[in-house]
Amino acid sequence: METLRYHSTRNTDRKVDASYAIVHGIAEDGGLFVPELFPQMDLSLEKLSELSYQDLAYEVMKLFFTDFTEDELRTCIRNAYDSKFASADIAPVVFAGDTPVLELFHGKTLAFKDIALSILPHLLSVSARKQGIGEEIVILTATSGDTGKAALEGFADVPGTRIIVFYPKDGVSDIQRLQMTTQHGDNTHVVAMEGNFDDCQRAVKIAFTDTNERAKLKEAGYLYSSANSINIGRLIPQVVYYYRLYLKSVEAGRIGMGQLLDVVVPTGNFGDILAGYYAKKSGLPLGKLVCASNDNHVLTDFFRTGKYSANREFKVTTSPSMDIVISSNLERLLFHLTDASRTIEMMQSLKLIGAYDFAGSLLKLQEDFMWGYADEAKVAKAIARVYRKTGYIIDPHTAVGFAVAEDLSMNQPISWRPAVVSTASPFKFPKTILEAIGQRPESDLSSITDLSKLLNQPIPQPLKETLNSPVRHFRTCAASGAQAEIHDILGLAR
Ligand SMILES: *Cc1c(COP(=O)(O)O)cnc(C)c1O
Repeated sequence: METLRYHSTRNTDRKVDASYAIVHGIAEDGGLFVPELFPQMDLSLEKLSELSYQDLAYEVMKLFFTDFTEDELRTCIRNAYDSKFASADIAPVVFAGDTPVLELFHGKTLAFKDIALSILPHLLSVSARKQGIGEEIVILTATSGDTGKAALEGFADVPGTRIIVFYPKDGVSDIQRLQMTTQHGDNTHVVAMEGNFDDCQRAVKIAFTDTNERAKLKEAGYLYSSANSINIGRLIPQVVYYYRLYLKSVEAGRIGMGQLLDVVVPTGNFGDILAGYYAKKSGLPLGKLVCASNDNHVLTDFFRTGKYSANREFKVTTSPSMDIVISSNLERLLFHLTDASRTIEMMQSLKLIGAYDFAGSLLKLQEDFMWGYADEAKVAKAIARVYRKTGYIIDPHTAVGFAVAEDLSMNQPISWRPAVVSTASPFKFPKTILEAIGQRPESDLSSITDLSKLLNQPIPQPLKETLNSPVRHFRTCAASGAQAEIHDILGLAR
């Protein structure tokens, strides 16, 4: 097995092992770790289609994490993908009418981030051991809702780790807030920040890249790491389910083996869809990756014009996990399509004037992607339309994907049937769904039972637990107060 090494998007000279990249999360120069090349899948699609999710995960992840032994990797996979997931398939593929839908919401928090965040703590603890790290690892996470809870669940009571989560005080749903503030685990900390998701993300990024701060932490026996989607320990496990989606679509006769499959991905920070891009680059026959945005459509504008501008109003929508203005993982795509020096230019421009021009050919940027966005009215319509036509109920994030697919289909052959990635359970957003199909629900909490009747499905167990647990976390801070809050939590305040 050849060794695959990683380097920063801003400097290709310094190469590190996967375990180093996983432990450190972000490169010292502020760039993101990327593989030096795209490894190629060495098993045939026919072979892969006989594998369980866990065995498939091994075949995909071993291509990227070459410094892990087979035993280490298989143990991580076994610990992550077990009965925590309500479906033995982990990521089942269902059909809404004849559209293949990849359901990524059968984990503990009922949303897609569970898939990566249930394995990251295990990858991280193996990586820390490999890197000879003795400090306690402090996971700092900014969340727009789902990441926070999924990370808290993943890391709760994992020895040698602490986790601190910042969420925008008014930018998450009632259920999301409750999921986080009731979190168990003595090593878990949750802070509500006055500000939006980008403020949270900025605060975390500053803590990470401040060398004084890092030195101070090291002296106290701590090492910052990230569970955000910029960590390759999250990105790579997401490559697996694109293989699953493809193989199941073939098995169901939607496409022939080897034929290209287009996939619509509800997108925010660009982690999920980037994993699709990595899957394609590793040899999976995917066609276009459709970048579906909500009313915060900075990515739609970028793919259309090559101009990225974060100087725009931040909108709070019914799909809060996609409410972003700065899409961190996009830096990786920029690098793959250009080089380190042009990536630095673009990122400096983003920092200085909040905008940049894609420093490469627009055609190259558009080659593997399609794009579109859905405003709130279209999201509601998509929920109602899919329900009426197929009986299948989708959450508002997934609805963004269906709405964009519907819009794009106007300019596609009549037979165009892209697969759609479903990123959250409808049970997380019951009020929005009931409103979309014409009911008048009072609140999210009161709508859960109504939705359960409508779906003719019991309320998912993890949600029941959330509703019945006491609130344990009460911390709040100003947008500028993150560092002081962290120091207080770690006992560093004077
Ligand atoms: C995080 C999230 C997304 C967006 O995924 P990115 O990787 O940030 O693009 C979409 N839907 C849900 C439910 C999410 O939690």
